[in-house]
Amino acid sequence: MAKDTFSLLNKIKKPLFTDTVKRIVLWDIAIFFLLFVTSNVFTIVITNKILTDNLDERLKNEVETLLGSFVIRQDSIKFTGYSEIKEPNFTTINSGAFFLQVYSIKDKLLLSSDNLKSFGTITFNIPDIKSKYEFANLTAGNHQLRVIYTPLMNEQNKLAAYLQLSVFRTEYSSIMKKIILFNLLNLPFILLIIVLVSIFLAKKSYSPLNKIISIAENISANNLNARIKYDAHPQDELGRLRDTLNNLFTRLEAQINQISQFTDNASHQLMTPLTAVKTELEYILKRDRAPEEYKETLTMLNVQTDKMISIIKSLLVIAKYSSNTEEYKSVFKISQVINELIKPVFKNQNIDYEIGGDLYLRGSYEGFQIVLENLIDNAIKYSPDKSRVIVRAERVDDNVKISVEDFGTGIIDEEKEKIFEKFYRTASSIKGSVQGYGLGLCLVKTIVLSMEGTIKVEDNLQIGTKFIVSFPLINII
Ligand code: ADP
Repeated sequence: MAKDTFSLLNKIKKPLFTDTVKRIVLWDIAIFFLLFVTSNVFTIVITNKILTDNLDERLKNEVETLLGSFVIRQDSIKFTGYSEIKEPNFTTINSGAFFLQVYSIKDKLLLSSDNLKSFGTITFNIPDIKSKYEFANLTAGNHQLRVIYTPLMNEQNKLAAYLQLSVFRTEYSSIMKKIILFNLLNLPFILLIIVLVSIFLAKKSYSPLNKIISIAENISANNLNARIKYDAHPQDELGRLRDTLNNLFTRLEAQINQISQFTDNASHQLMTPLTAVKTELEYILKRDRAPEEYKETLTMLNVQTDKMISIIKSLLVIAKYSSNTEEYKSVFKISQVINELIKPVFKNQNIDYEIGGDLYLRGSYEGFQIVLENLIDNAIKYSPDKSRVIVRAERVDDNVKISVEDFGTGIIDEEKEKIFEKFYRTASSIKGSVQGYGLGLCLVKTIVLSMEGTIKVEDNLQIGTKFIVSFPLINII
């Protein structure tokens, strides 16, 4: 019930637009708006160009017809196309009207169309004519004009006069005005659409992220074994987020399990020596004792303290290697570890080493040292005095096989699996005089697994036990 209320509160508190969504929406609006303005400017420029080109083409065609009506000899100019310029386009002022003026090079008006009488003269700026046709925009009163200039040449290709032909740009201006007005009127609607589309896109693009967040929120310390299930390619951003979070949960789960296991085991196992210490102290403090008795108690305290240190050390090493961190991993040579670190420890023991060639392993060489030390130590501990132990390392297919063989008490089949459990000791060793805490083989197995290896125990052929550890072979080129 309380949990339901809490999750309900969570839902109510969630804002409609988070800061991130607002930011994205604003960016989207800015980008869409910029695109809208750019596309409008582009449309206007292109339309302007098309319309101007059309006017220019019309002017050019008309000028080409008129040019055929001029006969120019030396300084005399004769115009034969009066019928042409008597047409309505040259005599009236309609939307398609042509205004014609011909000026001499001395700026004297030689010819003009009839409609100019009522329209008035059009400014004639003798143009800097670089090509056959020059175009310009002119304003005459309230009217916008498009003008073409062309030189009239005599037979010797000498400039004799200039021809100017003009048309209205009114139609063109009204089209442009209509486009701009249409866009301005539509702007509020377009803005509204842009805002709505931006919100939709922002919400849509964040919805998978929100889904992942809500799954992650549901994974608490109590159900750390749950994982985010979201269908996305591992290279995809959301796939990477899912994998990163899942890996994080895996690491957290391992760490939390480790801590709680360590706490459980340590408190359980330390209870025995601590109780022994407490009982002994209570007994000795009851009254005054002889110095020997104090000495005896202190010796006992020392033994129990050593026992506690040893237990804690082993538990810490187990915790370190169960976390499977890359930190301790490197490539090392088996013979080097055996010659430099193992042989000196067991120098007075009856141990035969049979190491086949240069074999390498990947992992922690310190961990590997702990594995060998524990297996050899057990082989010696659970065998008669001076009994032989064989340590063998060889390549078998793609693996390196390391065995520690003894000729001691052996392990019955029912206990072969259990001996790897934390604090497990076989019934015979509990009864016997060999000291131990049942942590060595658990430690060995944890390290072997952290190096991607396997471990098994077999009966030795004649008598005793054989531990076989196998690791993937590392090829050094
Ligand atoms: P410890 O030796 O401290 O008791 P281990 O975890 O090293 O703890 O070993 C667990 C148990 O497995 C031992 O108590 C012992 O009974 C048994 N064991 C281990 N190695 C051997 C061996 N080489 N021969 C016979 N028994 C063994």
